[in-house]
Amino acid sequence: MTSREQGNEAVAPISRPSLTDGSLFIGGARRDAVSQRRRDVIDPSTGKKITTVAEGDAQDVDAAVRAARAAFDEGPWRHTPARERGRVLTRAAQLIRERTDELVALESIDAGKPVSLTRIIDVGNTIAQFEYYGGLAHSLAGATRQTAFPSMAYTVPEPIGVIGAITPFNFPLILSTVKIAAALAAGNTMVHKPAEDTPLTALVIAEILAEAGLPDGVLNVVTGGGEAGDALVRHPGVDKIAFTGSTAVGRAIASTAGESVKPVTLELGGKSAQIIFEDADLDVAIGKAIEGFVFNTGQFCMGGTRLLVARPLFDTVSKAVAGAAGGVPLGDPFDPATVIGPIAGARHLEKVERYVELARSEPGAEILAGGHRIDLNGGYFYAPTVIVGMANDSRLVQEEVFGPVLTIQPFDTEDEAVALANSTQYGLAAGLHTRDLNRAHRVASRLQAGIVWVNTWGMLDPAMPFGGLKQSGYGREYGPEGLAEYLNTKSVIIATA
Ligand code: NAD
Repeated sequence: MTSREQGNEAVAPISRPSLTDGSLFIGGARRDAVSQRRRDVIDPSTGKKITTVAEGDAQDVDAAVRAARAAFDEGPWRHTPARERGRVLTRAAQLIRERTDELVALESIDAGKPVSLTRIIDVGNTIAQFEYYGGLAHSLAGATRQTAFPSMAYTVPEPIGVIGAITPFNFPLILSTVKIAAALAAGNTMVHKPAEDTPLTALVIAEILAEAGLPDGVLNVVTGGGEAGDALVRHPGVDKIAFTGSTAVGRAIASTAGESVKPVTLELGGKSAQIIFEDADLDVAIGKAIEGFVFNTGQFCMGGTRLLVARPLFDTVSKAVAGAAGGVPLGDPFDPATVIGPIAGARHLEKVERYVELARSEPGAEILAGGHRIDLNGGYFYAPTVIVGMANDSRLVQEEVFGPVLTIQPFDTEDEAVALANSTQYGLAAGLHTRDLNRAHRVASRLQAGIVWVNTWGMLDPAMPFGGLKQSGYGREYGPEGLAEYLNTKSVIIATA
């Protein structure tokens, strides 16, 4: 993420927030779900209920889409000069900066994120995204083209219309605001459906944007679960779906959206390999190997959860990673020293446990570290887990666990390392550690991944596009490519003779 090394800065203490019940945000106003249903929100570090949010369903989605539709078709937003739209986003960035502590507290209690990281990673990137797309809006432009006939021919970038944004639980702020900032910069209106497990910051972002000058109805928020998400995908008033989440749900969404030829971008799951070659800087490589699977308690789509190590280094690296993993500070997310918080929900913890059980029944597999829950304050804690000896075709090596679980495998040649790295259905991220510049370029070009890191891991920046290949999805977020996902190109040809 942006400047992750800044995590070493001193962090002011943050206390647990006192919460009021959450509502929907439609047409610029808070309201309850039509059904009056509510959903409990759980603090994953204690397992206790902290508040409730409105449980939206198809009726609420319909109201939100109507508000977004009216704001697009009749409202001023799409016709507002792009640089003025950019100014609204930049103002929002400043308001978020001023409300950092509040957002850190909300995101941390909701998702179990350590406050020290939430400040830098989640809120820091949210600000950076609004600033980046606020600036990029100033450069929105078409092109003039020469044709074979007498004409004045030009292209115009136009907003797509109403965007349905559906986001997952692991980075609630970042993954929603990357969509919101880019889609609004392009002049669209939106309905956002945040994850049911982590809905708290979505409403605050909508209110901050309203305060920054976003007209009513341009951004609407419907909290709820898969039922609300499905209603959004099916709604005829929605022109495009921007989805981040699991491959299974992404597949279902693409299929449903296909029925009405609704465009979709899909940021889906991953099972990314990190390769340590024999000439790597081992201190850096081991540090990144640990960070790669414990960061965000392993709930990182780009987690480096498959470590591939040159055979002569295999024992040394495996022992070093397993030895150090247990020493990474784990505990209360509101303790500034904590680096690993709980898993974000009970059902996610159970899934991690089921995957690690597979290692216990696999001949030759050995759990070098972790492999168990940690009993702490009733929260959903799981020890960082390091496993060697798994077959490459085992489910634990091939499927996304989404927890702090690392498998380590040896390789003998560069070709074998590349083949192993590319051997899953996913293609989200990959990394390699080497001091050989030729090898760095050669292997980076052979890895099937949307982003490749060399001698580092997990660095993301609003200027650099990311997204998947294969079953990790299609479309890109971040960069000018991320803005282009929310634009249609119109060609205008005027006869001049
Ligand atoms: P999920 O797919 O279970 O849920 C994501 C969102 O989809 C939630 O808001 C959920 O309510 C909604 N949803 C569920 N069923 C739906 C349906 N039928 N129609 C429409 N919406 C529906 O994912 P999750 O468990 O919240 O998040 C974890 C997954 O997200 C992992 O697979 C992870 O790799 C992936 N992820 C990918 C990226 C990326 O950029 N590629 C980033 C973060 C997370």
